Amino acid sequence: MHDVTRTQKFMVTRAEGVWLWDDSGDRYLDGTASLWYCNVGHGRTEIADAVHQQMTRLDAYTVYGDFANGPALELGERLTAHAPVVDPRVILTCGGGESIDTAAKLARRYWGVTGHPGKTHLISRTGGYHGLHGFGSSIIGMERFRAGFGPLIEDVSVIPHDSVEALEAEILRVGPENVAAFFAEPVIGAGGVYPPPGPEYFGAVAEVCRRHGVLFVVDSVICGFARMGTWFGIERYGVRPDMIVFAKGVSSGYLPLGGVIVSGEVAEPFWNRPGNPFLHGTTYAGHPACCAAGMANLDILEREDLFTVSLEIEAQLDAAVRQLADHPMVGEVRAGTGVMAAVELSSEALDERGITTAEVFLEARSRGVILRPVPRALLVSPPLIITWEQIEHLVGTLRSALDAVSAAHDG
Ligand code: PLP
Repeated sequence: MHDVTRTQKFMVTRAEGVWLWDDSGDRYLDGTASLWYCNVGHGRTEIADAVHQQMTRLDAYTVYGDFANGPALELGERLTAHAPVVDPRVILTCGGGESIDTAAKLARRYWGVTGHPGKTHLISRTGGYHGLHGFGSSIIGMERFRAGFGPLIEDVSVIPHDSVEALEAEILRVGPENVAAFFAEPVIGAGGVYPPPGPEYFGAVAEVCRRHGVLFVVDSVICGFARMGTWFGIERYGVRPDMIVFAKGVSSGYLPLGGVIVSGEVAEPFWNRPGNPFLHGTTYAGHPACCAAGMANLDILEREDLFTVSLEIEAQLDAAVRQLADHPMVGEVRAGTGVMAAVELSSEALDERGITTAEVFLEARSRGVILRPVPRALLVSPPLIITWEQIEHLVGTLRSALDAVSAAHDG
């Protein structure tokens, strides 16, 4: 639980570029762009200015019924102009989990209104993280997030993340007449940074989904907005999904924002139809200040061409973290697809010596670098403005943290 009581909290009080400061005035390199989202880096006053300007004009008004506002419509247009989706439409939300639930409900409702009410089953992948709302908690590919809540949505299944054959076998086992949608991240992020098994994987996935009448939903919440060098990450694999879920980098997290891009075919039964066949929506959908933040963020991504820059950073980060592969505490390094990396500890370190990733995380933080610990790995996903020197500093600090934790266990 992310509580906000003051006991033992690490207080971040200021941020600028790739740097954070705590309440003692100590400086840290933000090696995770907060939670994978601050793609343009911290302290961009032009985003704050855009939000201020917007709030003096129209502070807030929900997009619902026939109500809309300029920033929401403009943002929608900018996103659809770049989306690798046929005849795209946009639903706006306040974040990733909300968008996943929107996509899951829309997939089920789409089949319901087109004469296939039995198609409700959802398939996802091991290691996939899709937020912690109702549907997201149900399809998440990490058991620990599902346990303890009683029955979640039950017609779901999780398949190995590296096998198209497993996807097709599961669709056939459940029966294509029962399967609504397949959810996948371009690169699995929070589950430990797992790129697809090969460049052909997503093309084959899209083909299997199409052949069996299963909607293909791409979760680009982490991979979007230049983290993989493109708008939605999935472009790298040349496929056109039925829906794309986005959040995080769309506003670099300056204000909460997310959404779902929906193909015209899936949207058709719902868009501007009388009788509201998709009874779903939230209070803050299309919040004009959040959309203004999003557009100022997109301006920066485009003006500074962070789409191209991020490909250089991807290669630099890959080269730098791979140097850790020879460290005795490290079992595997995964990097090289997008500006993200996982340094997985060895089984000897984790299982025999009882070392935890939390120890390495705390040691690195005490040395001025913020990483993200997951059960078996330290994850890296810096802002897309990080320099080569800062990458070297990050990796060098992680190496010294690994040395220090190892030595502490020897002692
Ligand atoms: N999908 C992916 C791939 C994510 O990484 C996350 C959050 O980390 C989510 C969905 C959920 O987003 P949110 O935390 O905004 O609900």
